[in-house]
Amino acid sequence: MKNSSPIWSYLSSILAAAAFVAFVCVFVFEIFAYQRAVVEWANRDLQSRADLAAANLAEPIRTQDFRAIHAFGERCIAEGVRLTITGPSGGRIFDTRRNPSEDSAVYSRQSRSGECVVTVALPAERVLAPFYRALVGFVLAGLVGMTGVFLFFFVTYRQRMRIRELARLEKFRRDFVADVSHEIKTPLTGILGAADMLSDGENLSKESRTRLLELLKDSVSRLNALVQGILSLACLEREEDILERQETDLREVVREAGEAVRSQAEKKGIALSFQMGKAVVRMVDARLMTQAVTNLLVNAIAYSESPDIIVSLNLEAGRVRLVVEDHGIGLSPEHRSRVFERFYRVDQSRTASTGGSGLGLAIVRQIARLHDGQVRFEPVNPSGSRFIIEL
Ligand code: ADP
Repeated sequence: MKNSSPIWSYLSSILAAAAFVAFVCVFVFEIFAYQRAVVEWANRDLQSRADLAAANLAEPIRTQDFRAIHAFGERCIAEGVRLTITGPSGGRIFDTRRNPSEDSAVYSRQSRSGECVVTVALPAERVLAPFYRALVGFVLAGLVGMTGVFLFFFVTYRQRMRIRELARLEKFRRDFVADVSHEIKTPLTGILGAADMLSDGENLSKESRTRLLELLKDSVSRLNALVQGILSLACLEREEDILERQETDLREVVREAGEAVRSQAEKKGIALSFQMGKAVVRMVDARLMTQAVTNLLVNAIAYSESPDIIVSLNLEAGRVRLVVEDHGIGLSPEHRSRVFERFYRVDQSRTASTGGSGLGLAIVRQIARLHDGQVRFEPVNPSGSRFIIEL
């Protein structure tokens, strides 16, 4: 399955954000446009009411028919419209006595014969109430719509992540099966070949027989190392927390790893030296940390041809630095990042002689990760390797 490239992921997120911003802009613009339309409509309504009032009241005002004026005023009150009639001298002939500051739309019209000015006004809540009601409706609809859109994006995003994760796992499984089959083939061929020759070689010399048995033993132990390595890595790569953390002085971890490789180092005449100061106590899985340091030491002994190996433990800005340094052949730049991949070897023929499974550094990396740390390589001047576990 092909993974969708991250650029498309970013692009779709940017498009979704842009669409959201556009949606909000249109929403706000639409609200203001609607408010303007509502006020405009109220003003137009008032104009026609004022015209109607001026026409209806001209006669009662001229004949001073206050009953008719009052009856008209009552109708206005019933409809929620304020009515004010001002005489030619400026005095108020009639007023429905509402607080004028509450009016949001006011319209005045002089009666035809010029005896008075009729003012009609609409209180704010009457003009804007329908607008507010519509606004609440808009906002609710918008919220529901947006929740739907977000839900859609959330669900599709989760699905995309899940598919990507499944694809990654599928690729991991396929690569793993291919790698393991490839790795197993060499020792198996050795075992089968030696077994064949031993079974039908009655007249084999004693030396040949011993050589074949040695080959058989070597291949079996390589196979055994490979299986052990695969099991360790598979166990470390399981998702659940497999660490058995306990308060551990990391100096003990280093000492134990040193003990484990002492005879190997002595056989090659390599001097191991330790540079450790005060106790460095951390909550770690002591067994796994020992395994990580042992792997680094085994490599330093097996591959580096170094006359000496230095293991140091110190604290730098609150971070633990556990360093295994040798002064051997080092690693050329193209191998430096790749040596932590599983089954990666710099030199197949050399590794065959050391019996390495190509999993040692992958296991170290996984152990460091499980402890929320990392392992990295640094070249040593003029030659050599420094593998640093940082926690
Ligand atoms: P293996 O289990 O085969 O030793 P590793 O993952 O431990 O595999 O190491 C991968 C490769 O890194 C080895 O094949 C070796 O060539 C190289 N390597 C590891 N440690 C060192 C070192 N200290 N000096 C030089 N090369 C090293």
